[in-house]
Parts: sequence; C-alpha cells; structure tokens
Amino acid sequence: MQCDVLVIGSGILGTVSAYYIKKNNPERDVILVDMLASPGSGNTGRSNGMFRNTFTSLDNQILADNSIDFYLEAQSQGADLGIQKIGYLWLLDEKKASIYEKQIQRMRENGIDVNVYTKTELEKKMNFQPSPASDESLVMGLKPVSEGVFGSKCGRLAPEKLVSFYIDKFVKIGGKTIFNHKVMRIVASALKSLGIEGEPFVWQEWFFSAAETENYSKIYFKDIVVACGAWTNVILEPLGLDFQVKSKKRQIFSIAAKNSGPLIELMNTKGFNELGLLPMVILPVAGIHFKPVVESQEFWVACEDEINREFIDKPGDLSIYNAEEEYFNLNIYPVLKEYFPQFSRPEIKSMWAGLYAYHLPDCIPFVQRESNMVIVGGDSGSGIMKADSLGRIVDAAYRREEYAKLYNGTYYPVERIGTKNRKVEKEEWVI
Ligand SMILES: Cc1cc2nc3c(=O)[nH]c(=O)nc-3n(C[C@H](O)[C@H](O)[C@H](O)COP(=O)(O)OP(=O)(O)OC[C@H]3O[C@@H](n4cnc5c(N)ncnc54)[C@H](O)[C@@H]3O)c2cc1C
Repeated sequence: MQCDVLVIGSGILGTVSAYYIKKNNPERDVILVDMLASPGSGNTGRSNGMFRNTFTSLDNQILADNSIDFYLEAQSQGADLGIQKIGYLWLLDEKKASIYEKQIQRMRENGIDVNVYTKTELEKKMNFQPSPASDESLVMGLKPVSEGVFGSKCGRLAPEKLVSFYIDKFVKIGGKTIFNHKVMRIVASALKSLGIEGEPFVWQEWFFSAAETENYSKIYFKDIVVACGAWTNVILEPLGLDFQVKSKKRQIFSIAAKNSGPLIELMNTKGFNELGLLPMVILPVAGIHFKPVVESQEFWVACEDEINREFIDKPGDLSIYNAEEEYFNLNIYPVLKEYFPQFSRPEIKSMWAGLYAYHLPDCIPFVQRESNMVIVGGDSGSGIMKADSLGRIVDAAYRREEYAKLYNGTYYPVERIGTKNRKVEKEEWVI
C-alpha cells in the first residue's frame, strides 16, 4: 500500500491534521491510520471535553481562541458539536488572587474576556461555602475563597462529535481511513539506495519511507505525520527522536445529581451564562474541578493529580489505566464537600481514566518537522480546545510554509511552536 501522506493517530489532533492536509492539497492521497477501532477512541474519547481561551501564555490564547471561534461558527451553521458555553469559574484564595492579578491583566490586554467577582458577588450568585470552618477543613488547611475569576468564552463540547465532524469532512473530500492497524515501526531509507543491508548509513542522505503495521506489511508514503498523543515516545524513541513528552494518568468521576435536590439546584445556578447553568468550577486546592452535565444530570469531577502520580515514558494499552475510587474518596471528596456541601454523600455513577501528554518544557503543544515527518503533540491536557489551530499549523509545516493562517486570519509562525527555534511562553494555568 502507498500514499502521499500517512497520518498516524486518529485522535482529535491527527484527524484535524489529516483533514487540513487533504483540504489544502486535494490532489494528494492522504491516509489516516489508527490502532484502535474507531476515530477518537484514545485519550480524546476519555477527556473532559472542556474548552477555554483563558491561558496565561499568548500562544495558548491564540491557539485556543481561534479554534473556539471555529467550533462556535461551525455549530452556529448547524454542526452538532455539543457546545455549551457555560464558562469557567476559578475560585481563588487571597494568595492565588494576588498571583493571578498580573496574568488576568495581561489576558485582558490580549482581548480575552475575564471578569473578577468579589466574594460577596459570588455568594449572591451561587450557593457555596466560601470559608470552610469545619475541623476537617482546618486540618486540611483549606483557605477562604476571596474572589472568582470568570472566563465567558469557555465551556464544554462533545469530543466524539468534534472528531466525527472532522472525519466526515475528511472522508467526503477523498481522505482514507484505516482502523485496527497498529504502526509498529517507521522505516528510514537511503535516498539513493545502493541495495546494501543496513542502509541508511551515516554518510547517506535519508528519509522516512514506510510504516510497518501489525496487519499490512508496509504502508509506503512520501510524507508522514505522527499524532500519537501519549504514545509519541513509543513510536519515535526507537528512531532516536525525543520531544520531551511524558504521560500521566488522569481520572474523571461522574457524580449522579438526579436524586439529589441540592445538586440539581446547584447545576441550575443562574447568572453566569445564558444557559442558566453552573459554570465549570475550579477550587482553590489542587485544581479540583467539576462541571455540570445537564443532559444526564451528572457532575464530572477531576483533580490536577500532581504529587505522587508517576510520569509514564512509554504507555501501554489504555485499558490498563483505571480510575481509583479511593483516590476520589481521599483526595477530592474531602475538599469538594467543604466548599460545596451539596456533594455530601456522593453517588459515583461511573469513572474512567486517560492519559495527559505533557510537554514538560512549557506545557504548550509542539509541531515540528524532521525530514519528511511532521510531529504534533505535547498538548498537556488541552489539545481538543486547540485542535483546529494545531491542524492548520501541521498542514503549514507539511507544506513547508513559514506561517499558518488560523481561523480568525491570524498568521502564526510555524517555527514558533517547533522544538528547535521555539519562542513560546511557559503556560501557568494548567489544570
Ligand atoms: C481525563 C482527561 C481529561 C481531559 N480533559 C480535556 C479537556 O477538558 N479539554 C481538552 O482540550 N483536552 C482535555 N484532555 C486532553 C485531550 O484529551 C488531549 O489533548 C487530546 O485528546 C489529544 O489528542 P491526540 O489526538 O493527541 O491524542 P489521542 O486522542 O490519544 O490520539 C492518539 C491516537 O494515536 C493512536 N496511536 C498511537 N500510537 C499508534 C500506533 N503506533 N499505531 C496506530 N495508532 C496509534 C491512538 O490509538 C490514538 O487514537 C483531557 C485528557 C484526559 C486524559
């Protein structure tokens, strides 16, 4: 089998990249391959599906803001992406508020819509306990909430619908997909082969030529895009390529609200958005956060999980990473119920885990060309909300363009987000 461009990984980043490459280079034969049975079944399908433009780094602001505008426009034109613009609400203690002050100021200067609510304003809007005072909260050292930072161009979407949206468009314009095919190895070949065993030798010019899969012997390509997310190292380290990606397990706990009057009331908190729903709320401790899932009357709860959670260099199959109920009971619940007593005696309806693919230097994704390969990854837990921009940058990198034109017309320098001449700012708001 052969093609012009092979894209490995049909998570959101590979799918969007494949779509833009095919769209902008319609004469090229583009194949999207994944080891799983359907698109978006990796970490994209296990994500929280939240989006925000409230980042501290200008790069993340640009990548997310342009992507969000594209998603909002697509939905307004009839695509069902499951978008609900509920907003993000960060609850801050005094210390965090003073650290965030400058960052918020900068966001505003960059045109990001952020509101700061005082504690009194928050108490009027929302039923919560801003100053936990129980014995347990004193033992845990929980600090009173002093203010709330609200991002309005933020909310939730359905990742599986977003993936379908792009894959349908990709297939419609002639893109091909192959599922249930794991790429075991990418092969490098000599540009001018002498037919000697062991090529390419160091003195030869070389290129990446084929992908060996479990089922087909080889897929030959002219160019290749690697969008393997948490498995980036598995496929690239054997080639001697390292992009400082490390994975980490992250968990989501779905709490039933259906039979709890206080939780239903909390879910329907008015005054933050046009939907009359509670926004995504982030507590002042360990990034513990929860969002309302109104259609199934649940709250999805998660946590930053920084300490004592190992980094994984080369992850295995996703099925080995499971959510731990004890983690919820010992780490999340004690804090959650102090600020929001509505969560007392929660019923965990379901729980699951996935992998964040951190780009350790700065928690900003990268798009880098190596010979005839483009690698995208290191989304650091927020790749869905930046996927449209990243896909456009991958296409620009594939075409060896200096700039990628993002949805709003911003010309973004491809090299800026590469790993060789990188110019991005470190992201401070990672949750
Ligand atoms: C619990 C959790 C919550 C999250 N919440 C959010 C959120 O609210 N908002 C947000 O924007 N992001 C969130 N994320 C991050 C988000 O899921 C990722 O940024 C996004 O899914 C990355 O997309 P991807 O395409 O790189 O990865 P993936 O979706 O994992 O796709 C990679 C694909 O590559 C395939 N693959 C890998 N190796 C091979 C191989 N050798 N051969 C063939 N196929 C291969 C895999 O099967 C997989 O389908 C969350 C992640 C987790 C785990």
